[in-house]
Amino acid sequence: MGDDPRKRGGEARLLALAALYLCGHALLITLLRTHAQVVSIACVTVAAAWAAVACARRARRAGETKDWWIVALAMLLWSAGMAANLPFAATGQGAVNPGVSMLLFVLYMAPLLFVLAWRPEDPAAVRRIDGGLALVLAGLFCAIVAGHASVAGTPLENVPALRSVYDVGNAFILGLAFIRWLAGAGSPQRVLFGSLAIYASIYFAVAFYVNHVESIGPGYGVFSDLAIDFPFLVLALIASRRGRPHAEIALRRVDKVVQLASPLVLPLALLLASAHLMPSQPWLAGLGIAAAVLGYGMRTVLAQLRAQEQLERLAAVATIDALTGIANRRRFDERLASEWMSARPPAITLLLVDVDHFKAINDRVGHPGGDACLRAVAHVLGTQASRSGAFAARYGGEEFVVLVPAREEGVALALAESMREAVSGSDACRTAAGGRVTVSIGVAVARAGGTPQDLVDAADAALYRAKGAGRDRVVLHARDASSVTTAS
Ligand code: GH3
Ligand code: MG
Ligand code: MG
Repeated sequence: MGDDPRKRGGEARLLALAALYLCGHALLITLLRTHAQVVSIACVTVAAAWAAVACARRARRAGETKDWWIVALAMLLWSAGMAANLPFAATGQGAVNPGVSMLLFVLYMAPLLFVLAWRPEDPAAVRRIDGGLALVLAGLFCAIVAGHASVAGTPLENVPALRSVYDVGNAFILGLAFIRWLAGAGSPQRVLFGSLAIYASIYFAVAFYVNHVESIGPGYGVFSDLAIDFPFLVLALIASRRGRPHAEIALRRVDKVVQLASPLVLPLALLLASAHLMPSQPWLAGLGIAAAVLGYGMRTVLAQLRAQEQLERLAAVATIDALTGIANRRRFDERLASEWMSARPPAITLLLVDVDHFKAINDRVGHPGGDACLRAVAHVLGTQASRSGAFAARYGGEEFVVLVPAREEGVALALAESMREAVSGSDACRTAAGGRVTVSIGVAVARAGGTPQDLVDAADAALYRAKGAGRDRVVLHARDASSVTTAS
């Protein structure tokens, strides 16, 4: 499995390639000392592009989450941000971090936040809302950067404010990636979150160093630029690894809480960005807050609607017999119990219907044919029952029950007899079973002082007598144990 030698060989080659890349970067800076800045910026740009390509390739692999595409987009934005420095460095103006570069570095965070807000249960409509929120967030990021930087560059006095935006953003992404990774998710997502957690830790450390320690130094074109390659090369390596199959893990309660809270990620990021914009651009900040509240609200409504529909589906599945589509034993038991709650004894009569010689039918037409026969019998019984306001259910195997809302024996016997005739005359039953299908029916009326189980037992006893008397007949359970028989 994970120890496939070819797989390990491929990974070792990639690792060697990444090490070579770092050596090449160092060598180029040393050899092309006069162009060190341009060369170094180009190397870092290519490292991020490599990560983008590796993520895109991962997204195309079967069984992988398509969210790798979105991570690839983030890497591409970052790579473009670094490339935007090139013209300035090439014309000898120095790497002045033009506004467009600063903007792309901030924009790169929006797709990552979008990915980290993801929940497997979310339907497409919810993802679209998240997409909208990520776009608004990107818009706010643009406004933040525009407030501090211009196309020409970033005034020195504005640099600390922008740095704090990067720091907060990077820390936010790092924390989220770790939380989402630690709180279990389905296998492909867990791998993605784990990869992002590793990448984001290294990126955070490097960005902190570059922004707070090195930026006082000589800028790009120095050996410490190799550190900037590092998170991207690591991500490229991780994304290129062959996914190992992971067993599905049971979610702990804390995992569920994290997953349920993850929709808060984008609104929270919007609120943070809005708070930053509030003093300078209150209208935009208001827009961000409104988007956060509305987006989260719409998301919640959609999620609740889906949960409610799922509950309804589950309730239906729990009470319907999968083979025949009529009510199942559980639903019958509940119905009988509730009839008993409403009156003791309730005004009901029970019919217990059993297909005659069903084993022989199975032997003749096979088990699937037997199933088709059961469906046909259930259809006949269900149709007859609903016509007379009765309730039909599959009791189990080739037995069915019908609750007739009447205490009069005559009414129940007439319905039972018409059911018996309808089954034996049914072409659908005959076709499915390869011959005439008959049923025996035991009938019992709910008696004072009796329990639901007494009623079922009484109908069963009557059914037993119907079988003993030759089948294809209706037998009424009488209190004195004598019986009324309707022979075919
Ligand atoms: P009797 O007239 O005495 O009722 O004879 P019978 O053969 O109908 O009754 P028995 O209880 O001996 O056999 C019932 C058979 O129903 C046995 C079982 O394999 C078959 N059976 C139970 N559930 C299903 C099912 O869902 N599908 C199919 N095809 N057969 C089933
Ligand atoms: Mg039976
Ligand atoms: Mg039978």
